[in-house]
Amino acid sequence: MAHVLITGGSRGIGAAAVRTFARAGYEVSFLYEKSAEAAAALAAETGARALRCDAADTEAVAAAVASLPPVDVLVNNAGISHVGLISQISPEEWDRLFAVNVKSIYNTVRAVLPAMLQRQAGAVVNVSSMWGQAGASCEAAYSATKGAVIALTQALARELGPSGIRVNAVSPGVIDTDMNAHLSEEDKAVLAEDTPLGRIGIPEEVAEAILFLAQASFITGQNLPVNGGYL
Ligand code: NAD
Repeated sequence: MAHVLITGGSRGIGAAAVRTFARAGYEVSFLYEKSAEAAAALAAETGARALRCDAADTEAVAAAVASLPPVDVLVNNAGISHVGLISQISPEEWDRLFAVNVKSIYNTVRAVLPAMLQRQAGAVVNVSSMWGQAGASCEAAYSATKGAVIALTQALARELGPSGIRVNAVSPGVIDTDMNAHLSEEDKAVLAEDTPLGRIGIPEEVAEAILFLAQASFITGQNLPVNGGYL
């Protein structure tokens, strides 16, 4: 049974990915930061293994991965956002966004890589964002981190392809999760109207795209938009 490790698995897109991979027959482990109750409930529901771990903490990630069986598929989903003018983001907030959204990928890839290299096989799927492709006003830091995720995906695909390891990304559009809890119903209606498919997405639709890339044996270095046609 292939083993998938998903970061930020306790809710939203990560939780949908935990359920989707479990249904597809994978052994599932996930990292979460805060929501212990939700993580325990999801673990009980799906049979997944839940580990409390800050994905931005290099040593904590290394220790968590060392406690797991070898990872066949790594899904880097953990992420945070910040909405505000560039002048309103503090240096600490800027650094934390890059630590959680970008450095976490360095942390997890380094931790799972030795076993993947040994087997000359593996797949990584990184969760970027359409704002990493286009840039969003009042989300400069977030957009910059997600652009970095796409470049990191492309670089790692070239670096690891010769070792049989594929690296791809998904770039969701507006998805109905807690990350968008700050949006009013009116805001959501406007975003839906701007989307050719006429609605915002649901976490399961992103999870299906992640599973597809995890299994797409001749696709690497790609960024798959899951945005209802918004871009
Ligand atoms: P969410 O806030 O509902 O979930 C984020 C998850 O990441 C949570 O499980 C949280 O515990 C986890 N997390 C946050 N910081 C962490 C840390 N330091 N260590 C470990 N886990 C951590 O958000 P979501 O919408 O499900 O977002 C998931 C991913 O999708 C993020 O990378 C986000 O940037 C991306 N994304 C979301 C949308 C959207 O519209 N919701 C759009 C594009 C991209």
